[in-house]
Amino acid sequence: MSASPEEIPTPPASLTGLSTGSKPKYEFFKVIQGYLEEAARIAEIPTWVTTILSQPKNEIIVNFPVKMDNGEIRLFKGYRIQHNNLLGPFKGGIRYHQSVSLDDLKALAAMMTWKCALMNLPLGGGKGGIKFDPNEVSKDELQRITRRFVHALGQNIGPDADVPAPDMGTDARTMAWAMDTFMNNAGVNKQAVKGVVTGKPVASGGTLGREKATGQGVVHCITEWAEEKDFNLGGATMIVQGFGNVGSNTAVILSKLGVSTIAVGDHTGYLYNPEGFNPHKLQEHVKKHRSIAGYTAGKSISREEFFRTKADIFVPAALENQVGAEEAQMLQVRLVAEGANGPCTPEGEKILLDRGIDILPDVLANSGGVTVSYCEWVQNKRSESWSLEEVDARLEKAMKRAYREVGEMARQKKCSLRVAAYAVALQRISAAYGEREIFP
Ligand code: NAD
Repeated sequence: MSASPEEIPTPPASLTGLSTGSKPKYEFFKVIQGYLEEAARIAEIPTWVTTILSQPKNEIIVNFPVKMDNGEIRLFKGYRIQHNNLLGPFKGGIRYHQSVSLDDLKALAAMMTWKCALMNLPLGGGKGGIKFDPNEVSKDELQRITRRFVHALGQNIGPDADVPAPDMGTDARTMAWAMDTFMNNAGVNKQAVKGVVTGKPVASGGTLGREKATGQGVVHCITEWAEEKDFNLGGATMIVQGFGNVGSNTAVILSKLGVSTIAVGDHTGYLYNPEGFNPHKLQEHVKKHRSIAGYTAGKSISREEFFRTKADIFVPAALENQVGAEEAQMLQVRLVAEGANGPCTPEGEKILLDRGIDILPDVLANSGGVTVSYCEWVQNKRSESWSLEEVDARLEKAMKRAYREVGEMARQKKCSLRVAAYAVALQRISAAYGEREIFP
């Protein structure tokens, strides 16, 4: 006999993924599907194409055991979502975070499909991750978790099949372990599979310019916006949420253009310094201590005070669902440049736009990472090493072209830059579907 709904005990919040308090879970994938439908209407995409794109092609879940330092065997759940590979191999990051969920990864994988198409790359969209807190395990445990995950994924990934990269909680070192594990299962042709992941350290086949690429791309979008608006970046101020790869590199590069970072935040808290932080020093501190905690050149403030800080630019570079209706009302900036994926909710976005605050959407603003990942993948295929100048020049050209195309689409269709970015991407994917139709 099955239990009636009343008899089924409610699982604890830690198991449902619901945060404490009354806030309902943010349905990130549904949000992305909503943008897809809106953009498909605007770009006049055939319904059958939108139907295919509304769900990922493959959803891979692996459970694998790892021996922890204390001898305990822990079971980890890893995901790899392969959204679409019409234009090329699946491509997208691997996230290590306690909030990782199948649904969020489906959203992030779909966004990778739009990003690669928008940037005109011969790549599709994917995303993966493991639900755990990487700050709570040792370096050796991190290595074993990574290697077992890659081993469990087996031939589902590969240089011509699906190419992971760093995302939140993972970095170049993680990619070196991932590549090495894949290589050791590849038989004699080890060198041929170097391109199984991108974002590797340079000595292990990575490319110059990849580490800063996403931040650099965000900065290209901000400079294009500033030029369009006749806004002088010299002497401007900004606030940054998340001071990892994307946030810190954006702050460092913008500082060279005269923009000072006056408030920062991460998973440990928020800091304010009206004189401006030294982003290089703060970046070094975070690399050493894994967070901004303990950095003394700033006053501790609350999350709400952070969002109320008056500045010219806000760069969210942490998690999705950070700027809802409340935060959108609090923000006192002219521009939100989305370094993170999905930081603004649809409600937050509407309020920001109604208040005259511009948004450079994730699919455009943070696509510098995958663009330089593509450069790495091509170098690996050709056994070449490009100079930093060459990589930087390719990135700049690609970002400026995408910025222009998205702007033109937004003006033509009178829609937001976000919907315009989706629309440009969808037109490219749809053109290829139109030519090939479906098998058989
Ligand atoms: P990272 O792990 O290097 O840094 C993440 C930062 O977010 C850290 O400072 C962390 O403390 C902070 N953070 C985590 N939880 C938080 C919370 N609850 N509140 C406030 N801050 C919190 O990750 P990253 O690679 O910089 O990625 C950041 C974002 O940028 C993600 O949304 C990711 O998908 C996106 N992104 C990354 C890349 C890339 O190349 N790394 C490319 C495109 C987009």
